[in-house]
Amino acid sequence: MPDALVELLGVAHSYRTRGGAVPALGPLDLRVDPGEFVVVVGPSGSGKSTFLRVVTGFERPSEGEVRLLGRPPVPGRDVGIVFQQPRLFPWRTVAGNVDTALKWAGVPRADRPQRTLELLGQVGLAELGPRRTWEISGGQQQRVAIARALAARPRLLLMDEPFAALDALTRERLQEDVRSLTAGGSQGVVFVTHSVDEAVFLASRIVVLTDRPGRIALDLPVPLPREGVSADELRGSAEYAALRGEVAAAVRSTVLEPS
Ligand code: ADP
Repeated sequence: MPDALVELLGVAHSYRTRGGAVPALGPLDLRVDPGEFVVVVGPSGSGKSTFLRVVTGFERPSEGEVRLLGRPPVPGRDVGIVFQQPRLFPWRTVAGNVDTALKWAGVPRADRPQRTLELLGQVGLAELGPRRTWEISGGQQQRVAIARALAARPRLLLMDEPFAALDALTRERLQEDVRSLTAGGSQGVVFVTHSVDEAVFLASRIVVLTDRPGRIALDLPVPLPREGVSADELRGSAEYAALRGEVAAAVRSTVLEPS
């Protein structure tokens, strides 16, 4: 068995507030292996952001143990992160934003122009390097954020509802591009969303969280083809519809009915 990218062992997290402890996550066990595209889906407030904060080491879990590439996570190391907002530097060009990420990743100055071009090409923005970030669309800004997250060639890419603020058409286009990010290999993606459609389209495996505190309600492999099929064929297939139904039912069943 390959070394896990992420391991959560008996992890639970509660926030301390004046009104007492607010249980937000777990307890849960989860392992993510190289080559996986794991989408964590759950209703709002089910602990998805807490889960990502714990995995990246920004939050120490109240209970249990987290391992990232076999060791305790250090914030800002080993992972690329894409947030809901692109968080670009407005005083730098598109290429300048990627260049900065490469610099932080320790890439020598002489190698950076070529790597910047490659990364922008990978996200479909090869022509836009000299543009200012405010001159490009929201979808293009989020592509720059993805290029930046990939700059350090992270083994693990974490994505926190990265398309939630985009219009439906742009969202679909980005989903199609991001789906091919892990074509096997040593990298993996963990993506959180509240959208069942997004989860079924992107994932090689779906983890459904319960309502707060988020525990694992369903852990489901997604056997849809990852190559050689168009997005429209995929979205229109009977297998896609069946999975969508199964995941939607699991999400619905986790949300407590108001009494
Ligand atoms: P999600 O990302 O799925 O919307 P979160 O991880 O943000 O969920 O939050 C999980 C639960 O923990 C929510 O009920 C939220 O109110 C609570 N929570 C999140 N952050 C804090 C905090 N800093 N202090 C107290 N409670 C929090």
